[in-house]
Formats: sequence, C-alpha cells, structure tokens
Amino acid sequence: MRILGAEVFEIEKGFVRRSICTDGEVISVSSGDGKIMDAEGCFLIPGLTDIHFHGCMGEDFSDGSPEGLQIIADYELSRGITQICPACITSPESALIKMCENAAQFKSKSKSGAELVGIHLEGPFLSAAKKGAQEASWLRTPDKALFDRLQGASQGLIKQVSIAPELPGAMDFIREASKSVLVSLAHTEADYETSLAALNAGARKITHLYNAMPPFLHRAPGVIGAAFDFLECRAELICDGIHIHPSAVRAAFHMFGEHRIILISDTMRAAGMPDGEYTLGGQEVQVRGKAATLKDGTLAGSVTDLMGCLRMAVSMGISLSAAVTAAAVNPAKALGIYSYTGSLENGKYANMVLLDENLSIKAVIFKGKIVENGKYFH
Ligand SMILES: [Zn+2]
Repeated sequence: MRILGAEVFEIEKGFVRRSICTDGEVISVSSGDGKIMDAEGCFLIPGLTDIHFHGCMGEDFSDGSPEGLQIIADYELSRGITQICPACITSPESALIKMCENAAQFKSKSKSGAELVGIHLEGPFLSAAKKGAQEASWLRTPDKALFDRLQGASQGLIKQVSIAPELPGAMDFIREASKSVLVSLAHTEADYETSLAALNAGARKITHLYNAMPPFLHRAPGVIGAAFDFLECRAELICDGIHIHPSAVRAAFHMFGEHRIILISDTMRAAGMPDGEYTLGGQEVQVRGKAATLKDGTLAGSVTDLMGCLRMAVSMGISLSAAVTAAAVNPAKALGIYSYTGSLENGKYANMVLLDENLSIKAVIFKGKIVENGKYFH
C-alpha cells in the first residue's frame, strides 16, 4: 500500500509531508500490492501503546475473562491503540493468578485486536495511605515469591510492576524485580530521599505522576522531585481533563521534557460506555460525564481512551508531535518493543493511525492491514 499526501510523524523532525509505503506487515521503501490511499490533509502517526489502563466496553482486565480481554483488545485497536499493556487492580492472589493465566492464553490464541505486549501489575504492593481506588484489604507488603508465582502464571508476560518504595522490603524487591521488569513507583507517601534510593535501586518510572502521591513542595519535593532529578526516569501522565489540571500537564511536559513523559489513559470498564454504575476491583463506581468516582468522591480511573488523552493534551497546549512522542514513542521504548513498533520507520510493523485535521480517526492500520471494528485478518 502507498499512502499519499499525509503529514507523516518523524522522530525529532515532527511532521513531514511525504508518502509512505507498506509491504506485507511492515513499512517499506516500496509498496507491495500497489494499492493507493489518498491521505491529503491528514496526519499519519504511529499506533499508540497504552501501558496503564484497566478496561473498557464494560470489561475489566482483572476479571480474567477470555471474552472480556478480546473485547478490550478489539476496542483499543479500533481507537488506534495498536499495543496494550493492561493493568491489574489490587486483588487476592487467586484473582491475580486467573488474570495472568487468561492473558497468557490470549497471547497464544488471539486472532484480532491490539497486540498484548505485557501486563502491568498495579498492586498489591502499594501504600494504604495513598490507595486511591485500590481495595485496601488486599494490599500486601512487597513479596518477590508472590511476584514470581504471578510471573509464572503469566508465562513471563508481566513487564511492569508498580510499588510504593517506603514499604518494608521494597528496596530489596526493586533490586531483584528490576533485573527482569520495569519497576514503577506508585500509590506512595515516599519522601524525596526514599524515592531517589528506589530509583538508584532500579526503578525507572513513576506511575500516574501527581495522582496518589504527595505534591511537589519547595522543601519537600517527594517522588516528583526525585523523578525529575533522575534523568533515566520516565513519568506516566493521565491526560483525561479530570485527573490533572491543564497547567500541571504543561508543567510536567516542561519539567521532564517530551521524551520522558508517557501518556496513559488509566481507563476503567466504563470507557466507551454510557453513564451509570460500574465496579472497579470490587468497589462500586459511579460514572457521570467524564468522571468515574467511588462513593467518597475518590477518582476511580478514567473513561476516555489513550487517543482521547492525546487529543486532550493537544487542546491543553502540548504540540501534536510532543503528544505523539508521549503516547507512541516513549511507551514503546519503556516496554522494550521500540525495535518493531512505535515509530514510522522502514522495517518496523506498519502499525499506524490516520487522523484528520481535527485529530479524529480516519483509519487504523495494523501490520499493514486496515482495521474494521478492531478486527483484522491474518
Ligand atoms: Zn493507580
């Protein structure tokens, strides 16, 4: 396929008007089948990677349901998210094992939807004082043996673990776990020194910067200040227009630079669904408009999707190229999949999204095939 006339996203250069070809599953110098797509006036960007979301379309990854995970993967792909690394919510071990086994099954059998590139273990190793919408009764102190059992059940699919570094045993856990997975600091009361020690021990990311952690204060900069000072540390940012004020989103991009910010959606099962009553990790959630909250008003995930977050970031004054870098390039680098996806370079999978001038999706292309309702055909 030859795509003509689009403004094509290029690393460092931003957008360049040029044609792009696909041959079979990959981006190529020449077109395989000679088909032509007219993309005049459109933006062509890499497929996005959401490394932190819980569900959508009434389904939650933590349910451990094969049909549910397929619905999630199909919906995400239809929204231009070509790679997914869904997150669990704090749950009993039996539920986490079921979720891990379900993901491993999906990985080996699925024939449609976004590519499952990993699992994000968000909990149970989190602080009760900053639990957010995590169920307190299932929180645990860091336990490498439990982590290993879950990793075994997932057949190695766990790629990220979120942890509060002030918990007993956290530093040893971080040192060990970071040898094989990305460790992210989350749901924490840690001060600056503890956070910096965790980064030196091997943590390399902050889970939903600002949310469920102390604020950045001039004499107590906390985890946010430590993350800023540690140049190899990336920071997730929920950009749904609810979780973080636009000024704080702009500040984060300026502080960290566009190459260290990872946009995430943190969606729960009501994403793509009407207002109503839902659940998250066994707790009741009310969805009204763009906000999902527990009974006490605590935010309980978002109801947008990562493409919606990209659009929201642009509406807040972030450049389109910076927003694409944060939603496509950086998450792929963080998960170690950038060698085959996350940018529009020859030889990589032809995973891309065509957006019109309003950033609405005109077409999603996955491994060189045009996606319809999340379905593609091998
Ligand atoms: Zn969270």
